[in-house]
Amino acid sequence: MPYSSLSQIQTDLSAGKLTVKKLVGEYLSRIEENKKLNIFLEVFAAEALQKAEELDAKLKNGKAGKLAGMVIGLKDNICYKDHKVSASSKILEGFTSLYSATVVERLIKEDAIIIGRCNCDEFAMGSSNENSAYGNVLNPLDHARVPGGSSGGAAAAVAADLCLATLGTDTGGSIRQPASLCGIVGLKPTYGRVSRYGAIAYASSFDQIGPLTKNIDDAALIMEVMSGMDEYDSTLSTKPVPSYSQELKQDVSKVKIAYLQDCLEKDGLDPEIKKRTTEVIDQLKKAGHTVEPVNFPFLDYLVPVYYVLTTAEASSNLARYQGLNFGFRSKNATGMDSTFRKSRSEGFGKEVQRRIMLGTFVLSSGYYDAYYSKGQKVRRFLQNKTLEILSNYDFILLPTTPGTAFKFGENTADPIKMYLEDIFTVQANITGMPAISLPVGKHSNGLPFGLQFIGRKFEESKMFAFSKYLTEKI
Ligand code: GLN
Repeated sequence: MPYSSLSQIQTDLSAGKLTVKKLVGEYLSRIEENKKLNIFLEVFAAEALQKAEELDAKLKNGKAGKLAGMVIGLKDNICYKDHKVSASSKILEGFTSLYSATVVERLIKEDAIIIGRCNCDEFAMGSSNENSAYGNVLNPLDHARVPGGSSGGAAAAVAADLCLATLGTDTGGSIRQPASLCGIVGLKPTYGRVSRYGAIAYASSFDQIGPLTKNIDDAALIMEVMSGMDEYDSTLSTKPVPSYSQELKQDVSKVKIAYLQDCLEKDGLDPEIKKRTTEVIDQLKKAGHTVEPVNFPFLDYLVPVYYVLTTAEASSNLARYQGLNFGFRSKNATGMDSTFRKSRSEGFGKEVQRRIMLGTFVLSSGYYDAYYSKGQKVRRFLQNKTLEILSNYDFILLPTTPGTAFKFGENTADPIKMYLEDIFTVQANITGMPAISLPVGKHSNGLPFGLQFIGRKFEESKMFAFSKYLTEKI
């Protein structure tokens, strides 16, 4: 302990040096020791130990699944039957999931053990985990700084070795950005690759569930288990799911990579992140890859279009929380209208309320054409421009975040400043492409940062293979 890959764990399990029960016990002690980081909202301790014992018996009989030994945490917006789920919001206080997300079922079927639920920004809205109704998560690498968001707890849990991997959701960067700030791997799959059934919706045409891990192999294996068709999510592709873990060795010795000069020139990009990106570009060129600059003079449209469209979708998705069906109901309510009004005003935090209002505004008659329709057109335009690049290149290389982990409170006074944290991550969500953040940067301030690759739709397999090659050889 701590283990940094499933293969190490499985080797020790089969050599008899470790039992799953011992492994889970160790993670539980680490969670206890690191309580002040405020990462887990709830730990399923007794249940995880019980499952560990059952799994040890299965292992003895040679009947364990692919994920035996994988101890996993869930972002608190992914449902697990008969367990609480709150999206870190007061409005879902006391709510228990009636069913499990498809991804959870699939992981459990392969013998993953779910150890608890991780703190996040309320309804996955945020970039620092400062919007949780249950308090800030501390970055395990520097307790005065944010872990990123919205999957802040999920990223911090992996970075602090409180479990081997976690699942997060990524609507505009919520897996990749905290992965970058905590120094781990984070993948946002292609839209339509992973079932969203059982993920609490924020903006349905952007949301995807994905893994946060210490290495590429574990991410590939988790994706292989959880991806693919599901009768409960009609937006899924019928494309077969490759054996990502088997395809990691494919030949990636000559790939074509575009980098966006506009990103590197962007104001606010930390000079050391720029330098490291340029270094990686040079190293890749030297290794025989084609790496070329391309123009993408549309960066300034990405964040606005993201916020117009996602708030519109959020205002509709969050209409269901009205104090009647789910969780919290205001004690001051006096009738139906007052129940809706007061439960929503008291139950939702400030940022969620801001987004519901923005979304309602952009959808309102009179403004619909000026904002929402126009936003859709810009989304299509940005998709076409990104597709154009990817018709000539395998990947687009760009930084994940403009800077390293920032201090608590540093961005909270100015929402626009916080929104600009997403400048490099939203392109993949707007366009539906897969994107991965790799922990290949270390700043002179001691903090990590990630570099990001956007790939072609449904080409996660190549992305994993290339990421593995890059993190090991470059
Ligand atoms: N930081 C972005 C936001 O606040 C992304 C959130 C996400 O991906 N869930 O919306």
